[in-house]
Amino acid sequence: MSRLPKLYIGTNTKMYKTIADTVAFLTELGRNTRDLSRDCMELFVIPSFTALDRVAPIARQHEITLGAQNMCWEDRGQFTGEISPLMLREVGVGIVEIGHSERRHCFGETDDMQNKKILCALRHGFTALLCIGETGPQKERGTADEVLRMQLKNGLAGVAPSQAKNVWIAYEPVWAIGVSGVPATKEYAAQRHQVIRKALIELWGEEAGGGVPVLYGGSVNGQNATELIQMPCIDGLFIGRSAWDPDNFAQIIRAVLREGAYCHS
Ligand code: PEP
Repeated sequence: MSRLPKLYIGTNTKMYKTIADTVAFLTELGRNTRDLSRDCMELFVIPSFTALDRVAPIARQHEITLGAQNMCWEDRGQFTGEISPLMLREVGVGIVEIGHSERRHCFGETDDMQNKKILCALRHGFTALLCIGETGPQKERGTADEVLRMQLKNGLAGVAPSQAKNVWIAYEPVWAIGVSGVPATKEYAAQRHQVIRKALIELWGEEAGGGVPVLYGGSVNGQNATELIQMPCIDGLFIGRSAWDPDNFAQIIRAVLREGAYCHS
């Protein structure tokens, strides 16, 4: 069971939902979770950039934190196709997702790039959600823990312990994500989460490193969500496909709150 008092749970809708889809999704999700105290959970949605401005009031109304799927490490300049922290601030984003496996593996982003984005996100007062995870071959070679430690320590270089309260980590094994992904067993996920927690404590000490939420992501669904959340060191869930239907997502949230004995009524 997590040591943290709140459940962290959210979704990234990738490049799937249009503005109209996102409006409908957030409206329904808000309605379906209206009775659940936000003191017991941090509920977040990371939609497409184009939807952010339109859905910000809906998210605010339902106490759902909005995130951005990516961000440039510069405030402005000659960076065609990038999105600035100032632009994200303007539309009410609270979380910036950094280093999702698709950014790393489809678009060649490196740990050094993630690090620049993390430092920039923190400078601008966002919560930085750093995604890390080993590939299938790295798992097979037995180097998953080394990979995770490298991604963490390089991605978070230069972040002070006082800034740790604005950092969340998502452990998302690459082999577990998406349509061809196989969910990690609860034991495997818990072992990796322990490695991550230890590295965070090495970086920032027991208090600051121990308080950083570490979420699991990768083929979470209605069947495995509750067993995952009961494992030590798993502080939340970052869900793709199974969260994109708001009724399904709300059912998972309720089940996880119940099993995790969070303070919902
Ligand atoms: C993801 O891509 O971050 C993810 C967790 O997706 P899914 O739940 O669909 O595997």
